[in-house]
Amino acid sequence: MGLFRRRKGTWRTIREDYRRLPRDQWTEDEEEHWWQTCSDEEYWAHWEAWSRDTFEHPTVRSIRRGCLEAILAGGRASHPLEYAAMLRVEGDTVTELILLPTVQGDEHAIIQTWMQPVDKSIKGTIHTHPDPHPYPSEADLEFFAANGTIHIIAGVPYDHDSWRAYDHEGVPVYLEVVPDPPDAGDPVHDADELDWGDGDDHG
Ligand code: ZN
Repeated sequence: MGLFRRRKGTWRTIREDYRRLPRDQWTEDEEEHWWQTCSDEEYWAHWEAWSRDTFEHPTVRSIRRGCLEAILAGGRASHPLEYAAMLRVEGDTVTELILLPTVQGDEHAIIQTWMQPVDKSIKGTIHTHPDPHPYPSEADLEFFAANGTIHIIAGVPYDHDSWRAYDHEGVPVYLEVVPDPPDAGDPVHDADELDWGDGDDHG
């Protein structure tokens, strides 16, 4: 329930017909009453509406093999340090790894300093854990919620069984590994090649 932002109203009472009024006109008491009395169906209908309203719904289904290999190779090369990068998504597929300058360390905090590029196809992240546990930490979950729709964590030993993908809420997502198309270019690019907009002090 803490996920949903409460709206403050001006009444301290519960009106008999509040359920027929638009939700943003409910008082805090009415909101509270609704949570205590809603049916499962109502709860999930609200969850669904909230989820769609708040985030682009996750629709990423697959990852190109070349991109995955690059992610895993990066993990092996950086170990025991963590590394983080961004992911380009085309259609429903993760296609490219976008390397960020100087982003490498053993603390999660480092990825919180990322800036969002103008390029709208950059909508995922990948980072590594220097241990065999590719599961999101509390800090990871906060980061996921604010930084795109698909998030990969690769753990030791950075092989085909040691990575997991999650959506913006930290819900595990199954990504099918698909072959690279014949015209696929290099799956690894530098962030310098992105359009960061003008006037941003991202450097
Ligand atoms: Zn992490």
